[in-house]
Amino acid sequence: MTAPRRVGLYFFLRCGLTAVLLLILLGMSFPTTFAREPAQTAQAKPFILPFAAPPGPDTWLLGQMYGNTTGAYSNRRNFYAAGQGLHFGLDLSAPCGTEIVALGDGVVVGADGPWGSAPHNLLINHENGWMSMYGHLLETPKLKAGDRVRQGQVVALSGDPDSTCHSRPHLHLEIRDAKNTKFVNPINLIDADWDTLALVGQFGRGFERDLAAPRQWQTLYDQPDGLRGGPFLNEYPEPWPPAFPFR
Ligand SMILES: [Zn+2]
Repeated sequence: MTAPRRVGLYFFLRCGLTAVLLLILLGMSFPTTFAREPAQTAQAKPFILPFAAPPGPDTWLLGQMYGNTTGAYSNRRNFYAAGQGLHFGLDLSAPCGTEIVALGDGVVVGADGPWGSAPHNLLINHENGWMSMYGHLLETPKLKAGDRVRQGQVVALSGDPDSTCHSRPHLHLEIRDAKNTKFVNPINLIDADWDTLALVGQFGRGFERDLAAPRQWQTLYDQPDGLRGGPFLNEYPEPWPPAFPFR
């Protein structure tokens, strides 16, 4: 009777061990199988890029950033005086005639209105608190006030502020509040891989430094809102680089 009892004990221990191992394995797999997705901490960005084509040398590239750029600083008393000395939009370099798409669903406020960025422009109200303004367009957009547009719909063709199509063709893109008094950084509202886009670009990537506060407003994302007609934000006592004529 001893031998069968030992076999029974061995069998019992082996089953017990297997059960314990199974429980450990189940325990390990539970958190990944049944755990809830981590809470979304970042706010979803409501808008898409203004071009359907991917970026590249034959399509479009990121040009001048929004905000406290060196170019805006140097031209704060002329081009950018209305926006507190900031570049109050985003420049996207593109050959003339590149199709521009709406950042989001919305209603056209108007084409060729008093919104700057000659020779042609377009303003769309997205009815989510934001409006988008597309500037330096090639021609008057074929849309009129009140027209409904869908996100991704072609709404205009890109042009050149000098109307030459070979000097500095680009889209100047602004995001304004619904009251049309505030400009904000489009990068924080358009869903795109901005860090990668910023690796290649044409000009104006640098941000002006105030040597008295050298880390202020130095990244893509950390740029101040601009208030139309507000005082200069970059009248620095110790600017770097120093101001120089248009570049
Ligand atoms: Zn611009």
